[in-house]
Amino acid sequence: MARVAFIGLGNMGGGMAANLAKAGHDVRAFDLDAEALNRAKQAGCLPVQSAAEAVVGAEAVITMLPAGAHVAATYKEAVFSNAAPSAVLIDCSTIDVPTARELAAAAAARGLEAVDAPVSGGIAAANGGTLTFMVGGTAKGFEEAQLYLEAMGKAVIHAGDSGAGQAVKMCNNLILAGTMIATCEGLALAERLGLDLQVFYDIASKATAQSWSLNTYCPVPGVGPESPADRNYEGGFAAALMLKDLRLAMGAAEQAGVDLPFGTHATELYSSFVNAGNAATDFSGIIRTLQDKP
Ligand code: NAD
Repeated sequence: MARVAFIGLGNMGGGMAANLAKAGHDVRAFDLDAEALNRAKQAGCLPVQSAAEAVVGAEAVITMLPAGAHVAATYKEAVFSNAAPSAVLIDCSTIDVPTARELAAAAAARGLEAVDAPVSGGIAAANGGTLTFMVGGTAKGFEEAQLYLEAMGKAVIHAGDSGAGQAVKMCNNLILAGTMIATCEGLALAERLGLDLQVFYDIASKATAQSWSLNTYCPVPGVGPESPADRNYEGGFAAALMLKDLRLAMGAAEQAGVDLPFGTHATELYSSFVNAGNAATDFSGIIRTLQDKP
């Protein structure tokens, strides 16, 4: 088994690093947050005091950070200067395509393989080792990353060249924002019409309304499998991160000359939700804006 550097042990990274340790890898884990480091230690990782310390001697360097700026800074300050020549760099964060491509090119200039490998599945899949990875990079980079990604996921798919993983993820989350808002609207109306929401769920989740947002991540408490709604919308996928992803999609659409009317509206709705003090609230908590109306 290999020595792996894991940087970013938040809602997603914590469970992913734990699964690598469970698979027998020697995981050197780093996060700016002391509590996250402590949880990683309890999960069998070795907590270290800096990203650079994690990277030295690692065969794979995995990052799971909020956005492109965090990943670029970590690569420039700690990864490029400390990575072994044979190390594979795997960024699992959701970031913009240009940054992913720039980092892969900068890695290649140093003789390193770097892939973008964003994930889909949410925290239950991160904890359960059942994530889907969409990977952008060379065939060699994909092959080298596979061993590590398979310890954290149920599907590892080569999407194409560098940046292709992020492009797939951006389009996936554009759809996710739409299905979540539509699911919230359907549930809010069902509630106002006096329907039993469990009965509504039992029908709609088997009918044409089914989606991951409804079936797996139902935005009302006590209905469907356990989800952030059951924890007062804490943990999970922060609304600020969904807004970041929508802005990535809208920026890409503008550059490509594609009109996204539903995406534009979803971005406005998540922007208002975040600005109303809900940046850290799970993105399914947007249902409250519909329920709270008198
Ligand atoms: P999070 O905010 O819970 O975790 C990010 C972690 O990075 C935090 O623990 C933070 O302390 C740490 N961090 C920030 N800057 C750092 C630095 N310079 N060095 C070390 N640690 C640093 O976020 P998350 O929900 O785990 O999401 C991580 C990424 O995965 C994001 O890009 C997000 O869009 C994506 N994602 C999230 C989900 C989800 O359901 N939460 C699903 C798919 C993809």
